[in-house]
Amino acid sequence: QHILVTGGTGFIGQRLCPELIAKGYTLTVLSRQGEADVKARCGRVDVIGQLQQIPQIPRIDAVINLAGEGIAEARWTDKRKQELRDSRIALTREMIDQIMTRDQKPNVFVSGSAVGYYGSHGGEPLDEDAPAKDEFTHHLCADWEAEALRAGQWNARIALSRTGVVLGPDGGVLGRMLLPFKLGLGGRLGDGQQYMPWIHREDVVRALIWMLESEDASGAYNVVSPHPVRNIDFTHALGRVLRRPTLFPVPAFALKTALGEMSTLLLDGQRAMPEKLQQAGFEFSYPELQHALRACV
Ligand code: NDP
Repeated sequence: QHILVTGGTGFIGQRLCPELIAKGYTLTVLSRQGEADVKARCGRVDVIGQLQQIPQIPRIDAVINLAGEGIAEARWTDKRKQELRDSRIALTREMIDQIMTRDQKPNVFVSGSAVGYYGSHGGEPLDEDAPAKDEFTHHLCADWEAEALRAGQWNARIALSRTGVVLGPDGGVLGRMLLPFKLGLGGRLGDGQQYMPWIHREDVVRALIWMLESEDASGAYNVVSPHPVRNIDFTHALGRVLRRPTLFPVPAFALKTALGEMSTLLLDGQRAMPEKLQQAGFEFSYPELQHALRACV
């Protein structure tokens, strides 16, 4: 089975691609990077640099679509918001248009999204049917999902990963938090009451492969651990694992001043629950935070 992967070089993709290869899949990775760099990250894959090359790929059985500019990498100016949207929504739209020109079309389309779909919520548990708030991240995710759903035109099975905050050893959110925490300068963000729907990267990879392979998997899935925690509890857990004090709270106003609207990523949250994955019997390798953090640091 041959899979077209976008975002294969990323934090999630560089664990996903080798796992897919180990399972016997062959891959074509869409990337803006050079072939050697892509292979260094993903393993033995074919590489395309342009969506216009999609019609020439001999066979595509499935697509895993994760590409997108980093949501937390720069302040959300109007220009940045457009980049965040174009790198997901326009890219997915054009990919589907390119696939439409093929005689042979993929049967499965697994596409990224995020818990930001729901916008900022308090402590109420959110399943996949929970109402969303009218916020930038909601529209970003909802419009991205809507483009992916166009794969229904050729009756592909479509599964959407509303991914939580991914924890892994070499990058992601934890990569940014580790230095201040190691220096003993860690602390809660704002009042620390906001929920963090975390998930270990290995479980994201397993959930994406489960969506790819499960004939019944369709629609949106919250790809989060079954035990989301409040920011204050996350802070204490990380401090314990690193054996460091966490006495330096970062006040909400400081984050708002430094990050603007993007501070919502840190100060607001959502208690997303993996309702559909659990109903389907999906088992998490890292259901508990302490265990997941120990595996990462
Ligand atoms: P990374 O930021 O690590 O990687 C993003 C990937 O997208 C890269 O492989 C890059 O490919 C590609 N990309 C970035 N910008 C563009 C662009 N302008 N045009 C085309 N391709 C682009 O992401 P992650 O692996 O962390 O996440 C994968 C997806 O999951 C992302 O869309 C992210 O928003 C989403 N997600 C991630 C979460 C997390 O905590 N990590 C949480 C929730 C959702 P290349 O450089 O090879 O072209």
